[in-house]
Amino acid sequence: MGATSDGPREDPRTGDSREDPTPPDVRDPAGQFPDDAPPPGAIGVPDQLERLWTPHRRAYIAGQDKPTGPGPDDGCPFCSAPRRDDADALIVSRGERVYAILNLYPYNSGHLLICPYRHLADYDGLDAAETTEFAAFTQRGMRALRRALGPQGFNIGMNQGPVAGAGIAAHLHQHLVPRWGGDANFMPVIGRTRVLPDLLAQTRVVVAQAWREVD
Ligand SMILES: [Zn+2]
Repeated sequence: MGATSDGPREDPRTGDSREDPTPPDVRDPAGQFPDDAPPPGAIGVPDQLERLWTPHRRAYIAGQDKPTGPGPDDGCPFCSAPRRDDADALIVSRGERVYAILNLYPYNSGHLLICPYRHLADYDGLDAAETTEFAAFTQRGMRALRRALGPQGFNIGMNQGPVAGAGIAAHLHQHLVPRWGGDANFMPVIGRTRVLPDLLAQTRVVVAQAWREVD
């Protein structure tokens, strides 16, 4: 007689018997579900699959925040964000000529964007004062993200023009993407999924706090 896996199992350490966590197979010997049993996948019945909920992608898929043209009055999100309050717009810090804002569609937790207030496309269009503050905000952003989130590295850069991958090409923005060992793994490549353990509103609070604490 071999051991059977059917029925409650006895814990050899405590002698407790507990229910097997696997849902019971309620099919009859012919493989049919009884009339009163819901089939797998019915509402309330576990289907054994993992899920990553990505509600922030819904707005992106629906085209929200995409400008209708190249001008500042064509729905440019980087022109309209500073007119909203910080929490609503996900703004981390406001400077004199530039500001730091969380990316609404982040590649990773803490994905910051540094933007000039002025609506212009190219980095070489910044004047000297904007260039200085743009650089200072990039450096302070690194320090704030390190303090708030402890990344091990960063990807920093600008996509200039739609051909180079700029999603909103008409308004310059520099990406600061914190990186951790193993943060991406296979998910973006195989699963076309980014894994984001923090919600944007929470991330904004901790990064904005850290921004005030660093020089
Ligand atoms: Zn703009």
